Amino acid sequence: MQKIGKSEFNRRRVNFESDESRFPWLSMLLDSYAIIDTAIESAIELQYRSKQKGLACQNGCCHCCKTHKDIPVYPHELVGIYFYVTEKIKMPVRETLKWQLQFFKQTDFCPFLISSSCVIHILRPTACRQFNVFGTPCAEGEDPFFTRRDDVLTPNVNHTNQAFLTVLDFYEIKDDKKNFIQNNKIHTHVKNLRELKWLQLIKAMNDYDLKAASL
Ligand code: SF4
Ligand code: SF4
Repeated sequence: MQKIGKSEFNRRRVNFESDESRFPWLSMLLDSYAIIDTAIESAIELQYRSKQKGLACQNGCCHCCKTHKDIPVYPHELVGIYFYVTEKIKMPVRETLKWQLQFFKQTDFCPFLISSSCVIHILRPTACRQFNVFGTPCAEGEDPFFTRRDDVLTPNVNHTNQAFLTVLDFYEIKDDKKNFIQNNKIHTHVKNLRELKWLQLIKAMNDYDLKAASL
């Protein structure tokens, strides 16, 4: 397996230093995202060369966030989303997000999409990080996985597994970690972001706001 270089990893690693000392799982999550992002960067480079097509994805291009019915998210990623939304998202986006979460229906597009941007971009799930398209940007309503599979990036499974290995303490898996990954047991924990209810997250945001106002 091609190794993830330390300098690329460090360049990609987001740090929330004081928060990481409060939440040990956060360091694991940020490590795993740095592995994913570094691996994706080199996979894009490799596949760009073989396909001879540039990456279509760019800021503000967001049909995928509206079209995808399945957005896989793991429990360790959900706690990251809860943390980031509750403690880091500021007004006025915060109020818009509360509104979107409050009235979210499964048929709506992803509730974290506001003004064509992902408001949890730093802590977006692995699946969102790994969905990249070459050639032309997706048309409205198009899922290129079905319309032109060859233009969709295929992530490196070994690197994805390496990223999952870093978060297994979150699941209290201490022994035989490789077996847990290789037998796909981690995937038994996956949920679909579009099927989740978000009232608990709104409550966490409101509690945090109340506490901040009383300081
Ligand atoms: S996956 Fe498609 S819609 Fe999403 S950013 Fe890439 S090109 Fe744009
Ligand atoms: S989490 Fe962000 S990137 Fe993923 S579907 Fe939602 S808005 Fe798009």
